[in-house]
Amino acid sequence: MALKDSIPRPPQQPPLIRMKAILERNVFDSHCHLDRLFGDLVLKPKYFQTFKRENAAIMGETFEGCITSFCQPRDWREKPWQCVLEEEGIYGAIGVHPSRAREYDENTEDELRYFLQEEPKIVALTEVGLDETHKVPLQIQEVAMTGLARDWPLHMHCFTDSYEIYIRWLNQYPKMKFGVVLNKANLEFLRRVPLGHLLLETDAPYFPPRSDHFKTKGEFLKKRSDRPVSHPGMVIYVATEVAKVKGMDVNVVLGANRRNIREIYGV
Ligand SMILES: [Zn+2]
Repeated sequence: MALKDSIPRPPQQPPLIRMKAILERNVFDSHCHLDRLFGDLVLKPKYFQTFKRENAAIMGETFEGCITSFCQPRDWREKPWQCVLEEEGIYGAIGVHPSRAREYDENTEDELRYFLQEEPKIVALTEVGLDETHKVPLQIQEVAMTGLARDWPLHMHCFTDSYEIYIRWLNQYPKMKFGVVLNKANLEFLRRVPLGHLLLETDAPYFPPRSDHFKTKGEFLKKRSDRPVSHPGMVIYVATEVAKVKGMDVNVVLGANRRNIREIYGV
């Protein structure tokens, strides 16, 4: 056995949460992917309540809901997801991710319009932007990119940039709010940004807490790749991290997040 393996490593636990300290039912995840989470766990959407019960420790009384993002036409056309959107507190956002820009045509646009207008639980257009990490040429992505009015309420997902970049975005779009996920936000940005501009997100199943604890629990294992996953209840960890960096009570952070979600999504 290599020497480094014989030295016990300190456990990397997520921030300690005392759920009894959470005062209201307002723990809300502003961005996750329930379809991918359930796909990873090989769970059918109709078992959402069972999933919630099994994770009641942090998806119990204080968990209010989430906005689940469907990134490609195939996802939001699928019927099984309608049963999840019927659940209290669960809302959907639909869109065509830049990596799927080739699937964006008049037909798809009509469908998006239809769902956004007619489905009361679909509350936003999602995954709008350009993505240089994918192979789809930017010219094709630009065709699918939606032009936006300056005063449009916007959620900048998974913001990891500096405070200076945040200011530049805000000058361009004054109603933009900035989503942060666990352990990824720029600390100086997090310290200085007013709570009124922040949204808490898990981006589940991505960005799980770095903890061996979760790796040993069956329900958090990706059945296919054996990697841990996160779920929307874990947004409480994001709230705790933000509260710690800003030196605030976690209830203040949760309250602001909930108000900000109402401002952006109207729910
Ligand atoms: Zn996402």
